[in-house]
Amino acid sequence: ALALTATACGNGREGDSGGAKGDTKGFAADSLIGVALPAKTSENWVLAGDLFTNGLKEAGFKSDVQYAGASTTVADQQAQITAMVTKGAKVIVIGATDAAQLSTQVAAAHAAGAKVIAYDRLIKNTPDLDYYVAFDNFKVGQLQGQALLDGMKAKKPNGPYNIELFSGSPDDNNAGVFFDGAMSVLKPEIDKGNVVVASKQADVKQTAIQGWKAEGAQARMDQLLTSTYGSKTLDGVLSPNDTLARAIITSIKGAGKPIPVVTGQDSEVESVKSIMAGEQYMTINKDTRNLVKQTIEMVKSLQAGNTPEVNDTKSYNNGSKVVDTYLLPPVAVTKANAAEAYANDPKLSALTK
Ligand code: BGC
Repeated sequence: ALALTATACGNGREGDSGGAKGDTKGFAADSLIGVALPAKTSENWVLAGDLFTNGLKEAGFKSDVQYAGASTTVADQQAQITAMVTKGAKVIVIGATDAAQLSTQVAAAHAAGAKVIAYDRLIKNTPDLDYYVAFDNFKVGQLQGQALLDGMKAKKPNGPYNIELFSGSPDDNNAGVFFDGAMSVLKPEIDKGNVVVASKQADVKQTAIQGWKAEGAQARMDQLLTSTYGSKTLDGVLSPNDTLARAIITSIKGAGKPIPVVTGQDSEVESVKSIMAGEQYMTINKDTRNLVKQTIEMVKSLQAGNTPEVNDTKSYNNGSKVVDTYLLPPVAVTKANAAEAYANDPKLSALTK
């Protein structure tokens, strides 16, 4: 048994089996794992629920997968997490409804000896969050910003281009990160005067859509068209996701105007169809299957008493600590690369034929 110590500082990454540093004592292989997801505001959440139920079962765990209801999302999720703690869940995976309103529940989970993993959305202002697993949100924004510029240039070689900006729900930490990523690409062009936000509504507060609601995006686009685009041409719209992108396009079509370059995210079925039909310009592929798989890997690692593998220990400061994070790479998809991008996803790949 003593010989083992020599290999414990080997060159394997933490989390590799073998040389891994013990993070916990581990727990029984058939333990309960809680998964608290937000309301079904986009297809990715619907997919995630089934994938967690099946994947955790396959890995030998018991699972309790819950969604927050559509209206009382915060209170619902708080109660669901509390119930998971009471039932003795060893790991609680949370896709937060509101980043800033879960610290009490996360603290209670921690005190009961459960590990907490933030899934897709960061949980803020708590030292008790153990891990974060997500697609690289800043990169998502960069890809959207770059695609917006490329798409407009392809239609009209020279600026200035008139654009409008939309951002996601203010209670979702991702919304600001997506927006910052996109602005890291767009701001230099705006400063040069090559891109103009004609409404002058250019910060994350002015552009936010509460609850990621399609109705909200459609209403704001209606207003912008009336206030700003009576005679001006709208060349592009930065939309943070597919649900909002389709609502924005509905508004523009309703006003009888030509569809500008509109970005998106999530590779929702209706948006992939819209891209293939030449309406929405782009989306992002964040394959939910991979994100759930990565999360279950973390759970398995904790079960075995190992430290889960992370690949980012700098980017996500939640206000109390820098959270150990595993980031997966998002992929930009337009009509041009859709067949290739969805090649291993039968449901989406069928739409590109
Ligand atoms: C997710 C997006 C999704 C949005 C609305 C975000 O936190 O990262 O993929 O479109 O929530 O559900």
